[in-house]
Amino acid sequence: MKIGVLGAGQLGRMLALSGYPLAKEFVFYDMSGNPSAGLGEVIVDRDGQYLEDFLSRVDRVTYEFEHLPVDVAEQLAQHKPVHPCPRALQVCQNREAEKTLFGQLGIPTPKWQVADSAESLQAAAETLGCPVVAKSITEGYDGKGQAVLKNPEQAEEAWAAIGHPRVIVEKFVNFRREVSIIAVRGEDGDVAFYPIAENTHHEGILRYSIAPAPGLQPHVQQDAEKYIKGLLNELDYVGVLTLELFETDDGLVANEMAPRVHNSGHWTIEGAMTSQFENHIRAVSGHPLGNVAARGVSCMINIIGEHGDIERILELPYAHLHLYNKGERPGRKLGHVNILADNYQELVWRVRNCAQFLPGSPEFKSSLTTKG
Ligand code: AMP
Repeated sequence: MKIGVLGAGQLGRMLALSGYPLAKEFVFYDMSGNPSAGLGEVIVDRDGQYLEDFLSRVDRVTYEFEHLPVDVAEQLAQHKPVHPCPRALQVCQNREAEKTLFGQLGIPTPKWQVADSAESLQAAAETLGCPVVAKSITEGYDGKGQAVLKNPEQAEEAWAAIGHPRVIVEKFVNFRREVSIIAVRGEDGDVAFYPIAENTHHEGILRYSIAPAPGLQPHVQQDAEKYIKGLLNELDYVGVLTLELFETDDGLVANEMAPRVHNSGHWTIEGAMTSQFENHIRAVSGHPLGNVAARGVSCMINIIGEHGDIERILELPYAHLHLYNKGERPGRKLGHVNILADNYQELVWRVRNCAQFLPGSPEFKSSLTTKG
């Protein structure tokens, strides 16, 4: 079976790496002009001329990137199975549609309003009560196109900084920590949930994911599963879906979802019985899903901007290195290291030991390292 992947970055690369043992072949379709998958067949097509060619070479289509035109996905879906469905893509591209769907499915969100001018942004900040976070409705990711307003008078400056005709204004959530749940749904509707991961960001970029999230109460995992299951079934979704959440004193609050494998699920490559990548390939190929149980505890450390001392990391007996074959550039995701351990105490020690060889890594901070 040949799987066509829209997008050709490191997520596509890792999908292919997990699909080869199942005898899948891969054709990547890249619209950026800068593919980095580095394996499989890659069609670079900045003007959409080779879409038919792509389609003729594949049996199924999936994505590793959600910022691509929905009409392209719809066009493809008329000829070949496209998983997840284009509607999932459409919802994830628009924060207003996404938060509306969350509300319809009973998934808690921060209180929110839409603003289409500096004046309406100020009015929304007054109604919701500051601090608020304003985010462009479309095209935002990793904290880009966003501004925090500490008081309504900052509306004009924030509006100009975001530079978008429509923004969503959200009440600022005082969260304990950021977490995510990854789930997978098969063609037959079977669903499996990975344990929730705890995520630490630095300068808007994910740095550490610990899974299973330490100290998580079982009902929190159950709530997250209920929320993501609602989304999977509503969208008749096939493949891996990620839901990013805030954990607060009053339970979970949803931030956003991604219709694909996710950076906060890279720990599953060695840390779970079946990785998120293999499970996505299984799902979109119509196979049964694999076991999602964790093997011990894990932490994923992202390698950002510079590679650090790779040789020393390779010497660590508990570290699994994954490199994406990309050039160094500030803020760029170049690879990750998965650290496995039998318990959290051992995990903290191992993560710190490894992070010293990654000079770009911020100090390891998590619920395991901060008391109270
Ligand atoms: P996003 O692009 O929506 O994932 O937001 C990027 C980051 O901004 C999140 O990972 C949070 O750290 C922070 N953030 C976003 N929305 C809120 C909110 N309503 N309250 C508090 N922090 C937020």
